[in-house]
Amino acid sequence: MNRSSIEAVCPHCSAVNRIPAERPAKEAKCGRCHRPLFEGKPVPATAETFERHRTRNDIPVVVDFWAPWCAPCRAMAPAYERAAAELEPDYRLLKVNTEEEPALAERYQIRSIPTMMLFARGNPVAQTAGAMNASGIVKWVRAHGPEQAQPRTASASG
Ligand SMILES: [Zn+2]
Repeated sequence: MNRSSIEAVCPHCSAVNRIPAERPAKEAKCGRCHRPLFEGKPVPATAETFERHRTRNDIPVVVDFWAPWCAPCRAMAPAYERAAAELEPDYRLLKVNTEEEPALAERYQIRSIPTMMLFARGNPVAQTAGAMNASGIVKWVRAHGPEQAQPRTASASG
């Protein structure tokens, strides 16, 4: 695989941006809306933007399926936010409100919330239910993430 650049979807306008490998992704700005591509925060996703992030990001995508009435979901929200600050720009963290996007929850057969799913190149690779603290989230994501999830440490061979 050519690692000279990665593609990342803008959290603000959903434009697909190409980030050269030699430039720090954390400082990259969107070519369309000029806002930062990574702000260390989970991105609320609709069915439409979810699809875009799932299919167009070179980096793995983590999704938190939650609902406003779910107390454990609300309790986990700050931990998920801290995890986003730690995992970006190696991962993109999304939040899907299952009240507003029931079709997405149904499609991925979300039976209990909070449920986290990890997608790599569009495919679901891991899923877990139940609230976690920030370090638990980071550990779970890194344990299931593909190796190409760490472009900063990837060797230049090949
Ligand atoms: Zn943008």
